[in-house]
Amino acid sequence: MISEFRNHPLTDFSKTENREKQQAAIEEVKGQLDTVYPLYIGGQDVETGDLFKSVNPCQKDQVIGTFHKAGQEQAEQAIQAALQTFETWRFVPAAERADYLFKAAAVMRRRQFELNAWMILETGKNWVEADADTAEAIDFLEFYGREMLRYSAEQPVTPVPGERNEMFYIPLGVGACIPPWNFPLAILAGMTSAAIVAGNAVVLKPSSDSPTIGYKLVEIMKEVGLPAGVLNYIPGSGAAIGDYIVTHPKIRFISFTGSKEVGLRINELTAKPQSGQIWIKRVVAEMGGKNAIVVDSETDVDQAVEGVAAAAFGFQGQKCSACSRAIVDASIYDEFLEKLIARSKKITVGLVEDQSTFMGAVINETAQETTLKYIDIGKQEGRLVLGGESGPDSGYYVQPTIIADIDSKARLAQEEVFAPVLAVIKARDFDHALEIASDTEFGLTGAVYSRNREKLDKAKEIFHVGNLYLNRKCTGALVGAHPFGGFNMSGTDSKAGGRDYLLLFMQAKSVSEKV
Ligand code: NAD
Repeated sequence: MISEFRNHPLTDFSKTENREKQQAAIEEVKGQLDTVYPLYIGGQDVETGDLFKSVNPCQKDQVIGTFHKAGQEQAEQAIQAALQTFETWRFVPAAERADYLFKAAAVMRRRQFELNAWMILETGKNWVEADADTAEAIDFLEFYGREMLRYSAEQPVTPVPGERNEMFYIPLGVGACIPPWNFPLAILAGMTSAAIVAGNAVVLKPSSDSPTIGYKLVEIMKEVGLPAGVLNYIPGSGAAIGDYIVTHPKIRFISFTGSKEVGLRINELTAKPQSGQIWIKRVVAEMGGKNAIVVDSETDVDQAVEGVAAAAFGFQGQKCSACSRAIVDASIYDEFLEKLIARSKKITVGLVEDQSTFMGAVINETAQETTLKYIDIGKQEGRLVLGGESGPDSGYYVQPTIIADIDSKARLAQEEVFAPVLAVIKARDFDHALEIASDTEFGLTGAVYSRNREKLDKAKEIFHVGNLYLNRKCTGALVGAHPFGGFNMSGTDSKAGGRDYLLLFMQAKSVSEKV
């Protein structure tokens, strides 16, 4: 009997024992840097000789891993391997498929400190953020395994005299999983395991900024004996092989999480049927956000400051859920801003392998350049009150940055920056704040700090986001508790970690027999 799902607890780093284990894991992983990793297709390691490197954004001369890069030839091989495997995998009983996920979760629990260490080094996550990422990956495996058991049970249909009726779920086929680098284990493992447990075979193209962590999932799935060809791993440039994969006539669905630009491109390209294609492709596309925290006049300002600082600068503002707009009631605006600046000045920036560091570098040089350009725009559109600089130069660092007095229509209030840059906007009153909050093309997360019940209820009705938080920060969604996905240009509202999610990777078949 499988127990009820519960979230995996976060590691308590105040305990010496845990700190020592994390430190030891970082040292151990450092001893494994610059391994050369192959592709993994149909259960075989494949080498192309065309190599690329993944580096530590906090220490750019440190190579984390070297990867053989897939081209179209390998993408085709991966799709063919998945197609072949799908013919057997789809008939494997759901409970058996779910068991691979439960076993993989057990391996992750055993390797948690090591997986944390890879994320600390490859993506610049601090200890707590990396640990939460691993915990979320474990949660996805445990949750989707259970969800598959639920969906494979008898589904209710209305009885009709003289007929035996049933409805059951079958998989879609071969899918492409295209995750981002910012939740390099959780999102990658979540989207991949959901598709697999539903009976599909997948081609996984990890982000070139976090391919090592993607390979760790391959290692784990090999260890638990997932049949060859169910998971095919092909790191490579999205620009070079992305179109080939997503437009391939045999690809049945695409599970994408990333930027609006790439998501919309995939949606557009896949809408056109290709020669030999006999279905409408299903696209799950979870994209960006311009998330706001509304700070009402009737609130505990200190609590709101804590929430905004954590949501704006946690993992360098590189969460899709990050707060990039603080919309503050005019009557407390000056007090809030002053306290926020004071709080944010305490943020430490540097090498995240040191436990005391809160913020590392942004993911790569392009991200750093784009952020600095947005800061220049912000300086013209508002008042720079904190940060604004890059450095230290050993990594792609950007200091926590606050730009006040931003107009709600300004670029800094409308465009996703995906960095530690917060726009602060003054609102006349609560209604005005809510109006500003929903006035972007996005609709991912949002939060409201207020003591007033009526105002909270109003926000619940009209703040148009997929994930709304009341009197807490807008980041940190928990699998099962806070199904995650956004409205409008934030995506298809797939609600990862929710009870509708697996349906995206299945189709229902109704069978009626005359008796
Ligand atoms: P990205 O769009 O640059 O890349 C995402 C993935 O798409 C990567 O694996 C990349 O290699 C691949 N890719 C790039 N070009 C492609 C193409 N032409 N065809 C197919 N694949 C292609 O995004 P990113 O920088 O990795 O991630 C950051 C973005 O992701 C932000 O916008 C963030 O808000 C968003 N995000 C959203 C959610 C969510 O749940 N809504 C979660 C995490 C991140």
